[in-house]
Amino acid sequence: MLNRILRLFRRSAARQFITGLQEADTVLAARPPHSVAVTLRTMAVAQRFPSTLPVGRIEPQATPPLCDHCSLSMILALITTWGPAGDPHTWYEHPVALHGWRCESCGDLSYPASLPDDAIAQLHAEAMAAVKQNDLDKAEFFCLQLVNAEPLNVVFRVNLGSVYQDKRYAAQADRHGQEPLDRYRLRAREQWLLALSCTDAPPPVIHFLLGRNFSATGASAEAVKHLTAFLSAPGNASNDQVVAAQQLLERITHGA
Ligand SMILES: [Zn+2]
Repeated sequence: MLNRILRLFRRSAARQFITGLQEADTVLAARPPHSVAVTLRTMAVAQRFPSTLPVGRIEPQATPPLCDHCSLSMILALITTWGPAGDPHTWYEHPVALHGWRCESCGDLSYPASLPDDAIAQLHAEAMAAVKQNDLDKAEFFCLQLVNAEPLNVVFRVNLGSVYQDKRYAAQADRHGQEPLDRYRLRAREQWLLALSCTDAPPPVIHFLLGRNFSATGASAEAVKHLTAFLSAPGNASNDQVVAAQQLLERITHGA
């Protein structure tokens, strides 16, 4: 029922236009053959862009859009706060990595942009390679791009949430204090909740992930709801996650 209601809101993403950027606000780098990377240098500029786009379709565009300002054809742009030209604090506070468009004449930016399948496949390969190398900032960078290129893709949402969970574990191991742990846990939760709203038949494992996530913050009612949904999902074979979910549910409901 909830998913049906949410589906009504799965509209295509409206094109946003960002104007009035100063030269010092961005660093440009060519991305051959036909695109450019735009690094947003300050928090104020970064916050004019979303970290992740809401659940919704991105309409494929047959030709690049025209600039609202000067009517010239725009070029594809990777817009980000990550990388050597970016500020690590801004990346931590407000990670941006999405594809959009840039007007080479006036510097205005717009988003979103849809990407062809081969570009998506390439980003996915880069994301998985970064995960394998345990380079979690890089994994976040690619997983964010994927979520923002296909905001309705359940797998991309689950993967981004899992990168945030891994960043949480890494921050814990490095004893960086409580703040990043809480932040990454909530970011993982946000992506997994959005993953549920992407489809009428989400993979049951998302409920397992959410059950553990909510349980860790003492949100018992939400944890029970998701663990129960996971355990009652059809076709759930007996495996480690089922046992873990049963034990966690037992602990929550009986305080054991
Ligand atoms: Zn322009």
